[in-house]
Amino acid sequence: MQIHRLPAFSDNYIFVLHDPEHKIAAVVDPADPKPVLAKLRDLGAELVAIFNTHHHSDHVGGNRKLLRHYPQAVVYGGEHDRGRIPGQQHFLKEGDRITFSDRTADILFVPGHTRAHIAYYFPPCSPEEFGELFCGDTLFAGGCGRLFEGTPAQMVHSLSKLRALPETTRVWCAHEYTLKNLQFALTVDPENLHLKNRYQQVQAARSQSQPTIPSEIGLEKHTNPFLRWDQPHLITHTQSDTPVQCFARLRGMKDQF
Ligand code: ZN
Ligand code: FE
Repeated sequence: MQIHRLPAFSDNYIFVLHDPEHKIAAVVDPADPKPVLAKLRDLGAELVAIFNTHHHSDHVGGNRKLLRHYPQAVVYGGEHDRGRIPGQQHFLKEGDRITFSDRTADILFVPGHTRAHIAYYFPPCSPEEFGELFCGDTLFAGGCGRLFEGTPAQMVHSLSKLRALPETTRVWCAHEYTLKNLQFALTVDPENLHLKNRYQQVQAARSQSQPTIPSEIGLEKHTNPFLRWDQPHLITHTQSDTPVQCFARLRGMKDQF
């Protein structure tokens, strides 16, 4: 399975999964149909599946048009997104599995950004491979999604599931927000050397318009304050009594940043 990252709109990424041998492809969160159709033409691949993480238009906006070109493509999304994802045929819940090409993904239920959000995790099928996580707007490189339909406790529970994945897991999140996220992270975790180094690297990459996605779970665990709600110095910094309160306060501060 090859993964192609397509930029869309100002800061979205769409991911095309490609099986060259069988000339088939799937797409994760097609914000915009145009770059996807162009990529499918380039690859000479037929679209067989659309994997949506949640119902926001910058993730499902291309569903209808792609289905007009590839009517046999099957649309997957979370069970609680019934009625909100155009063309949805499969209603996934925690523990479900989907397959594409020679890979199988576990479905993780990760509410918080929306009440129905899911993530697709493809575990490695050999030691040379990476696990691949498609997490939409739940976990970002250096940050996390805003809480539109969920509580801090729900988001902490959801992010805990992602944090528990192997450190080498590649994180394919749906937006290029990394630089701004790390600027915020430095305000709450200024002594973190991993974070300072990462900020330098990301700044260099972005100054040349290079993408910072995919990230990795191990890097996120060391540098992303939204996976570090239980670090004593962050609890102290936010004057919190509990990890969930720490997370909530960090999220509130980021909303104002
Ligand atoms: Zn969203
Ligand atoms: Fe989004």
